[in-house]
Amino acid sequence: MAVKSAEGSRNQMEKDNSLKEFQETLREAIEVLGYPHQVYDFLKTPMRFLEVSIPILMDNGETKTFQGYRAQHNDAAGPTKGGIRFHPDVTPEEVKALAGWMSLKCGITGLPYGGAKGGIICDPRQLSLTELERLSRGYVRAVSQIVGPTKDIPAPDMYTNSQIMAWMLDEYDHIREFDSPGFITGKPLALGGSMGRETATSKGVLYTLELVSELKKIPVKDMRVIVQGFGNVGSYLCQYLHEAGAKVVGIADVLGGLYEPDGLDIPYLLENRDSFGIVSNLFTNSISNQELLEKECDVLIPAAISGVINKSNASNLKCKIVIEAANGPTTKEAINILDDHNILVVPDILANSGGVIVSYFEWCQNNQGYYWEEELVDKRLKDKITSSFLNVYNTSKKLGVNMKIAAYIEGIRKMAEASRLRGWVR
Ligand code: GLU
Repeated sequence: MAVKSAEGSRNQMEKDNSLKEFQETLREAIEVLGYPHQVYDFLKTPMRFLEVSIPILMDNGETKTFQGYRAQHNDAAGPTKGGIRFHPDVTPEEVKALAGWMSLKCGITGLPYGGAKGGIICDPRQLSLTELERLSRGYVRAVSQIVGPTKDIPAPDMYTNSQIMAWMLDEYDHIREFDSPGFITGKPLALGGSMGRETATSKGVLYTLELVSELKKIPVKDMRVIVQGFGNVGSYLCQYLHEAGAKVVGIADVLGGLYEPDGLDIPYLLENRDSFGIVSNLFTNSISNQELLEKECDVLIPAAISGVINKSNASNLKCKIVIEAANGPTTKEAINILDDHNILVVPDILANSGGVIVSYFEWCQNNQGYYWEEELVDKRLKDKITSSFLNVYNTSKKLGVNMKIAAYIEGIRKMAEASRLRGWVR
C-alpha cells in the first residue's frame, strides 16, 4: 500500500509551500531584530544543495533510479546537522526549508551546529528490506563527499529509523576505511547510539506541554489532547501523555482519525498498530484527519506533516493551545488567525527540538567514547528544552511578538553572529 499524505493536508494545498513559509517568517524576524537585509539574503536559502540520482537494483532484477537531496543551510556555528526523510512527497524546496528550520532549532537550543536536511523521493512501504538497504547505502555513496562527523551529520526523519542509520554508518565506514560513529546519529545502541534517542522528540514535546500547563494553569491531568500522527513521535507521545494522566481524546494515522471525548484506550492502540503506526483501519467509526483537527480539545498536537493547519481550517479549531510536534504543520496565515483567536502556538523549531538535542548528546558520547545513563540524557534534555522554552517565551513577551517569531529570533541570533564574525555578512 502506498504512503498517503494525511488527508486534508498536502492534498488540499496546491503544492508544498515550506520554503516560502520559512522565508517569510525569517524576513519578519530579521526585521524585528533590525539586522541589515544582507543577513536575510544570505540565510533565505542553504549555503549548499546537492541533488543526486541513485540507481538501485530492485529485487525483480531491474534497476530503478531514485532522486535524493542534501541541503546544508549554514555552517558558521559548526558542522551541519539534520535528518534524512524517505517519502514520496519530498521536494527540493521542502528539503531546503527543513534545513533552514534545523539551523533555527540548533540556534534556539544552543547546539554547536548549523542545520541540514536530506531526502529521497520514494515510497518506503513499497520497498522490500533489501531494496531499502541498497537505497540507504546508495544515498550515502552519493553524498559521501559533503557529509562527515565534523562536516554534516545526518539522523532519522520521516520514515527513516535506527536500522537505516546502521546501514548508512556501515557504508560510510567502508568508504572512509575507519570507524566513525559520530558520522550519523539515531543509531542502534549496539553501534554507538544514545540511550533515550528514539523517544527524545516525544519527551521534548511532553516537557513543552508541561511548561505550557504551568503557564496556562491547566494541570496536565486535566488536559484533553489530540495528537495527529501515530508514527515514532506521535505514538510515544500518546504513551507519555497517557502515563502523565492527560486524556488523549483523538489520534490520527495516515489513513484516518479516531475521536473519543472520554479518552482513547492508548495501551490498546499501541499494542495493535502496524509497523507504520496504522490503527484507524481497525475501527468502523474512524473520521478523516481534517475532521479530527477541528474536534474539541485543550491541546492540539500536529505530529505528522507540514501545512495541515492552514487558512481553510484555522478558524474552525476548537483548542486552546497548538503544540507543533511536526515540522511546519501550521502555515503563517493560519498562525495569524490563531493569534486573533487567542490560541497559543508553541512553534515546531522549539517543541520538536528534543530529537536533535539528544542527537547532539549522542555525537558528544561518540566523540568522548564514554556513554551516559538514560537518566542523565533525560535530565539534560529537560534542562535544555526548559531553558530554550523560557528564552523564547520571554523574548515573545519582551518584543510583543508571537512565539513563532520569537523562536526565529532566538534561532537566528547565534547563526548571524557567527556568520558576521567569519566575515560572511556585515
Ligand atoms: N529529524 C529530526 C528533526 O527534524 C532530528 C534531526 C537530528 O537529530 O539531527 O529535528
